[in-house]
Amino acid sequence: MVKSSPERSCLVCRGRGPKSEFLRFVVRERELCWDKKHNLPGRGAYLHRRNECLLKAGDAKRWEKALRMDDITGTLANLLKEVIKWGS
Ligand SMILES: [Zn+2]
Repeated sequence: MVKSSPERSCLVCRGRGPKSEFLRFVVRERELCWDKKHNLPGRGAYLHRRNECLLKAGDAKRWEKALRMDDITGTLANLLKEVIKWGS
């Protein structure tokens, strides 16, 4: 038996894969945070580490639904700016 690692699915394209292909985001104290080290507890959302998905991730509704949060538009915009800067 091969032990398979749990797969994640991308918030934007719904594609699946091992967690090494993803960036993780979590809700901490009602704030959306980028979990750079994949070690924060809490409800998480995943996004592919590629511009194709990052650039389409600005739709706050997707996040609000996935993470059961309200009105994260401002936080999300700032966070994505940081992520895209880091990735480029
Ligand atoms: Zn994706």
